[in-house]
Amino acid sequence: MDKLIKGLLADSTVNFYAINAPELVERARLTHKTSPVCTAALGRALMAASILGAMQKVPDAEVSLIFRGGGPAGNIVCVGRQDGSVKGLIANPAVDLPANENGKLPVGEAVGKNGTLTVITDLRMKEAYTGQSALVSGEIAEDIAAYFANSQQQPSAVFLGVHMNSTGVTSACGLIVQAMPGCSDEVLEKVEKRMYSAQEMPNLISEAGMSLEQVIDWLFSDLSPRIIEETTPLLHCDCNRERLERALLGMGDTELLKMADEQNGATLLCHFCNTEYSFTKDELTVLAAAAKAAQTERKDAHA
Ligand SMILES: [Zn+2]
Repeated sequence: MDKLIKGLLADSTVNFYAINAPELVERARLTHKTSPVCTAALGRALMAASILGAMQKVPDAEVSLIFRGGGPAGNIVCVGRQDGSVKGLIANPAVDLPANENGKLPVGEAVGKNGTLTVITDLRMKEAYTGQSALVSGEIAEDIAAYFANSQQQPSAVFLGVHMNSTGVTSACGLIVQAMPGCSDEVLEKVEKRMYSAQEMPNLISEAGMSLEQVIDWLFSDLSPRIIEETTPLLHCDCNRERLERALLGMGDTELLKMADEQNGATLLCHFCNTEYSFTKDELTVLAAAAKAAQTERKDAHA
């Protein structure tokens, strides 16, 4: 059901990325036991990360979005990959703020706006590229648009929406539209106007039962939309035991032996997917020996 579409408008002078991901956001809600307002905040950030990941051209590229807004929900970290898959977390998932009189969840208040959005683009080269921009509202979509404008000099229109009822996520979708150099003012004006209607996306999909493609056709009917690629955005964590073993090795043999003796083993938690990895006393002792051997090897290499 979930889908991420890349496409073009107006004779390829405008790029668009559209996402429909209610299953992904519902899974994130269940994994992190998020309150309604934190589900909306994390859901919007996950969809943005999925799109930013899919924008990359390098196959294993990864884009990390870090929202530090100083609000009660705490920091949000989401990582999107080139295939549209994502992982993410929110620091205080249980923080709940009531919807306002219009029924809108106060995402901006939960995230806060006194801080920054940091975007780390890792193209698997020597160094990752880091961009940063001040948060505008903490509502996520506006902050992503500001990042594109300030850090990338790329004017973009961004819509991200998550709807919920008492049983869970009913709709989660988004849209990022970017004008390419050479786009006419007439086209820009049309795009701008149509972006007001993007607010209708969640209702059109969940209540009117329209597909993402139908919504795009409806939204951009006078801009000849053309779909060029479709993928399935998945909530996927890339943690595994080997990776955590490497992290443990990095702690050094003294610390590992201490853990083995004092705690009789160790349990590590992946904060992106809440998977627990347990290491017995014996396993930690073996890792400590390996860490010591690696240390001696490094010393010998330097001698
Ligand atoms: Zn994980």
